[in-house]
Amino acid sequence: MKRQVSYKWRLREVMAAAGMFAATDLEPHLHDRGVTLSSVQVWRLVTQTPERLSLPVLAALCDIATFFCDRCGFEGHLHTGRLCTRCTLSDQLHQALDDGSGRVHPPLAPLMAAVVAMPEPKNGLSWRRGRSAPDRVRRRPRDSER
Ligand SMILES: [Zn+2]
Repeated sequence: MKRQVSYKWRLREVMAAAGMFAATDLEPHLHDRGVTLSSVQVWRLVTQTPERLSLPVLAALCDIATFFCDRCGFEGHLHTGRLCTRCTLSDQLHQALDDGSGRVHPPLAPLMAAVVAMPEPKNGLSWRRGRSAPDRVRRRPRDSER
């Protein structure tokens, strides 16, 4: 009796989890791993279930699809720049609370540390995007400093 074997191609789902939503998002990652495919080939790879696949392409896809933050190594959902939610939150807060010197304004550093350390950094990102975002908390120069 022959055994039926099948597979489900979930590249799109894996790409979306890594913040890539278009076939063109994949091209530079393949190129970085020495895989040169035409845009049409990449599009087919993303949109169709391949019947054949070279091992170098498969190895590159497996490497691209890792869910480990490029900065801290945390395994989870990755945002732009292949950073985890906590690292993304940290970068966004750092940018929002920068006092112009490239550092977080010192009196706001404890606020940033507390937000970045929150158990669910996703909530911090939501807060960051919301009405009470730290851009509005950021120190404004006093009239005497202008
Ligand atoms: Zn991280």
